[in-house]
Amino acid sequence: MKTFYLISLFLISLLCSCTKDSISQASNGINHTPNQKSTGSSSHDLLSDQKYKNMMIEVVYVDGFKPTQNAINNFVSFLEARTYKPHGIVVNERMITSPGKTRYTINDLIAIEEDQRTQYNTEDTIAVWAFFVDGASDKNTDTGTVLGTAYRNTSFVIFEKSIQNLSNSAFEPSRDVLETTVITHEFGHILGLTNLGATLQSEHEDTEHAKHCNVESCLMYWSAETGEGLANLFGSNSAPTLDAQCIADLQANGGK
Ligand SMILES: [Zn+2]
Ligand SMILES: [Zn+2]
Repeated sequence: MKTFYLISLFLISLLCSCTKDSISQASNGINHTPNQKSTGSSSHDLLSDQKYKNMMIEVVYVDGFKPTQNAINNFVSFLEARTYKPHGIVVNERMITSPGKTRYTINDLIAIEEDQRTQYNTEDTIAVWAFFVDGASDKNTDTGTVLGTAYRNTSFVIFEKSIQNLSNSAFEPSRDVLETTVITHEFGHILGLTNLGATLQSEHEDTEHAKHCNVESCLMYWSAETGEGLANLFGSNSAPTLDAQCIADLQANGGK
């Protein structure tokens, strides 16, 4: 029921943003709608080179909340290992000033994206929006901290303020390992995992946490995007990786 409510809310916000978009579309000639679809729906376009030979990642961060270079390098390596983009994957980084909130809703983040995003799909390039925000998710509870969210087919947010609060101190994971974990986990959803656009090749969707893998050591295990998953990362010098079943799902939908 809760999920249904969230989906309804999401669809409503999507409808509103699409309506608004048709106005901005007319003024600058760029069609935004191919980048405003549901999470996982561009799985095949991102994984294969059938339509898009290049990938452009627009990394935008609030001043003071830039991800580490190691995490960006690991993200690109992850993409190169799983997707076919023969003409290359380019990262375009830019800083913005704070939007001025301490907690952000998905609607807030959609509005910021609408305002700041400059890269959209072109004939042979698929564009991705990665935003590192200076606040927390409004979905946080007393027992759970959301560290990232993939909210559209080519858009995700990393709650970098929360990541900074939970890394690089005693008994906490290193910042680049935590960033790499959350970035690649969110992008795993955008690539269609688990059962979110890349069809399951074996039964490994977690029955208690939909759209996640039931293998505890897999990158797509549900706790990888939450503060509760941190215990697993402490003392580790690398992020979890995809297990064989998740990789098989990506390969079956055009990936490596
Ligand atoms: Zn997840
Ligand atoms: Zn998995």
